[in-house]
Amino acid sequence: MSTIGFVGLGIMGAPMARHLVAAGHDVTGYDVAPAGLDALVAAGGHAASGVAEAVAGAEVVITMLPQDEHVEEVFFGGILESAKPGALCIDFSTIRPETSQRVAAAGRERGLRVLDAPVSGGEKGAVDAVLSIMVGGERADFEAARPVFEAVGKTFELVGGSGAGQYVKAANQLIVGGTYGLVAEAIVLMEAAGVDAKAGIDVIAGGLAASRILDLKRDSMLARSFEPGFRIDLHHKDMGIATAAARSADVSLPMTGLVASLVAAARSRGYGTLDHSALLKVVEDLSGRS
Ligand code: NAD
Repeated sequence: MSTIGFVGLGIMGAPMARHLVAAGHDVTGYDVAPAGLDALVAAGGHAASGVAEAVAGAEVVITMLPQDEHVEEVFFGGILESAKPGALCIDFSTIRPETSQRVAAAGRERGLRVLDAPVSGGEKGAVDAVLSIMVGGERADFEAARPVFEAVGKTFELVGGSGAGQYVKAANQLIVGGTYGLVAEAIVLMEAAGVDAKAGIDVIAGGLAASRILDLKRDSMLARSFEPGFRIDLHHKDMGIATAAARSADVSLPMTGLVASLVAAARSRGYGTLDHSALLKVVEDLSGRS
């Protein structure tokens, strides 16, 4: 079992840290917001007063932060200086591949082993410890990280070198965003046509269009309950990563561009702090049905 420094105890990080404590690891956490720290202490972990204190002496350093700038701030302003040489750094945040590559290269210069390991599965996947984890980095580091992945996830794969995990996560997010957009259109169509939308979406969920999003979210979408979950603001960030990744890979992804615009519309209409299933509100607005 390892000593773990865990930075970023939000919607995803808090339950992940709790699972690591339950698996027998000695977890010290830090977050700028106190709620996650209190939850970690209640679960049997320790609270640190800063990044340096959380990661000093840790064998494994974990980050689960919102965006590129937070990861850069925490690595370049703390971890690179304070983590002990040889420490295994696992960044679960969803950020740009180039940022992951820069952080990994800087870590290597300091003798740190850095993996990008963005996740899919949402808050429920984190709470149930069944996340899918897409990992970029060295094979030996991936193998060393296995006990951590087993504590928080169910499916994990090494998909290439540094940054590769972020490309796979971008691919994941364009599928998730596109699926939400189409589920929203299906609901708007059924309701506008006066059919029983609840019965309709239930029968759809049993056919070829079945999906985990329909399983988990169809009832809350029909009820117009958009408590996050995964915030529109974060999905907007992820669509930016996906469109930039398409550009750097020199491919045309027209559906991704459309979904990115719908998510941007959700944000500019003030839905940024709502769950990404609130794409339904944008689709309703387009048909004058809000
Ligand atoms: P969140 O905003 O709930 O949590 C992030 C935490 O990081 C917050 O508690 C915040 O206070 C903390 N933080 C920010 N800057 C910090 C700093 N400098 N030092 C210490 N703590 C700091 O976000 P989340 O939903 O947990 O998402 C985290 C990452 O996981 C994001 O990159 C997101 O895209 C990704 N993700 C989220 C979900 C989801 O369903 N929520 C699913 C898959 C992936």
